Amino acid sequence: MDLNLEDKVIIISGGAKGIGGAISKGLIAEGAIPVMVDPSEKEGKELLDLAQGKALHLPIRLFSPEQSQEVIQKTLEKWGRIDGIVNNAGANDGVGLEKGTPELFTQSIANNLFHYYYLVHYALPALKVTQGAVINISSKTAVTGQGGTSGYVAAKGAQLALTREWAVELLPYQIRVNAILPAEVYTPMYESWIKSFSNPEEKLQEINQKIPLGKRMTTPEEIAAMAIFLLSEKASHITGQHLYVDGGYTHLDRSL
Ligand code: NAP
Repeated sequence: MDLNLEDKVIIISGGAKGIGGAISKGLIAEGAIPVMVDPSEKEGKELLDLAQGKALHLPIRLFSPEQSQEVIQKTLEKWGRIDGIVNNAGANDGVGLEKGTPELFTQSIANNLFHYYYLVHYALPALKVTQGAVINISSKTAVTGQGGTSGYVAAKGAQLALTREWAVELLPYQIRVNAILPAEVYTPMYESWIKSFSNPEEKLQEINQKIPLGKRMTTPEEIAAMAIFLLSEKASHITGQHLYVDGGYTHLDRSL
């Protein structure tokens, strides 16, 4: 199947590591041009080398509107077009009701949510020209809860609501907006979370056993495959959807 992504310019926040890194890598394989907005210098350089220069790495930790504006400006200066945005950067930062403060809650939402809006807001004129696509990487925690992580989960839930809201607002421009909900994906973020337990190996096995399909984690590449399909013209009639790529973890019978 030819996805026809050659030379399409896609901005991926958190695009150098984990799920975002796998999306960038997959896009490079398709001949697309990933713009990786991610403070990770080493991984960003490795992906730039892989793309033989047909990519851009912006080592920015997104927080303020001005940073997102800068990302859009630099992308347009370098490549002249934007065909898609993958809002992916975030961190499960454990700001809960008990272990948290109003200030930390606000900061967690800013870290995990506000730049999803900022990037799409500033990219909109360019996306209208290309009839581009937007993907919001959310999380199963938005629908299941996790406990002890109010800020992150509030942001993840809002990302799902914004997916529907933007899908409606952008219908006149043929810009499609979809969300992907991963559940358990072994990435650098996941590794540091699992290592926070006193018995990480045991905990990992316990979680694997609860994943219906194959009793294993979803790989970053499996999330990337869905993202790349949704970015492509092959997904031309899919918008406003919440897609669970999780081996059945969120919905299938727990007694399996
Ligand atoms: P990851 O391994 O930590 O990779 C994320 C990358 O994004 C890192 O390079 C990180 O840099 C960067 N980053 C973080 N905040 C950023 C910001 N504000 N601006 C720019 N870059 C930023 O995380 P991941 O597991 O791939 O998660 C990616 C997305 O998937 C997140 O939205 C997460 O909520 C979602 N998700 C993941 C899982 C899972 O099981 N892994 C499950 C559900 C949802 P630093 O390392 O320097 O912070």
